[in-house]
Amino acid sequence: MKGTIKLFQVAGIPVLMHWSFGLILLLVLMEARRNDLSFSGTLWLLMLFLILFSCVVLHEFGHALTARRYQVNTRDIILSPIGGIARLERIPDKAWQELWIALAGPAVNLLIAGTLYLILQLAHLPVTLQADSETLMLNRYTILPYVLTMNIFLALFNLLPAFPMDGGRVLRSLMALFMRRWKATFVASWVGRLFALVFLGFGLYWGEWVLAFIGLFIFINAGLEYRSTRIEEMLQAQTIEDRMNRDIIRVDSSLTFSMVENLFDNHAVLYLEDPEDNITHYVITREIQGKAIPPQTPLLHVAHPIGHPLNDQLSLEIAYQIMQQRRLMAIPVAHEGFISGSLLWADMEKMMRRASLFRWHA
Ligand SMILES: [Zn+2]
Repeated sequence: MKGTIKLFQVAGIPVLMHWSFGLILLLVLMEARRNDLSFSGTLWLLMLFLILFSCVVLHEFGHALTARRYQVNTRDIILSPIGGIARLERIPDKAWQELWIALAGPAVNLLIAGTLYLILQLAHLPVTLQADSETLMLNRYTILPYVLTMNIFLALFNLLPAFPMDGGRVLRSLMALFMRRWKATFVASWVGRLFALVFLGFGLYWGEWVLAFIGLFIFINAGLEYRSTRIEEMLQAQTIEDRMNRDIIRVDSSLTFSMVENLFDNHAVLYLEDPEDNITHYVITREIQGKAIPPQTPLLHVAHPIGHPLNDQLSLEIAYQIMQQRRLMAIPVAHEGFISGSLLWADMEKMMRRASLFRWHA
């Protein structure tokens, strides 16, 4: 991902850090200054920061390793100032699998908190923060209670029922046990937006800019989550056959650009055939329209080889991935081995725009 550097890799999952994570470090140092911390106090604060950062990483690995149990891979884990994100390659098939994956992250934080609680108890050290800890008083006695409290906070905060918080996924997966996933997402994203508005409202009213920012962030992401789920489900439910363009026009592959230019307006794809009537290449008219191509250019020079046409029974999701990877605006489609039409990127885009409208009815 852009703007990130790779820190390390564990269990085949790269951990990336977004450049803006550096801002947090700056915030830590500003906080140290504001509290008039001594040199050792600043070091303790940095240590606290590093420990919390590790807890966030462990939280994300909680998601990633649980997802792996359900054959869902994690592309990477990204650390940004607003927290970590484990980018799963897809949503798991079953709603209860998503539930466990979502709960695994906060569970890690509760596990850490529980372990620290036991250790502190056994060592007869204070477990809770002192009442007068308004100012940062970090030392070897207070750092563990801080970490304990922060882990409980992390678990609870992440369980807020608002995307992209884990609680939003918990809510969605619970509802998806009883209804279609995109409808569950629709409801969950509205719940998320309500939370976001409350955060935003209180944040602005109290002048708590972090809270207001979190509200804004949740509001945007709730909509995005709905959109991507809706599109994903739509693509999975359909095959190429449902959306393909059945127009097939064959032209001789020895023709030149100017000889077929009049066909461009009415045909998205021209199929080129050799003297034995075999289709060997195809021309995507949108690719070359409006470009300064000399009239005498042989069509073969602007054509793509047919290669392996996509089977018309293939799911739209896979077709979409292939077109995206190869950056193709059209791809030939075959029915039982014979070219039966083309799948057009423009049609896919139109479909996705419709799918992403925020509404309950399809
Ligand atoms: Zn999480």
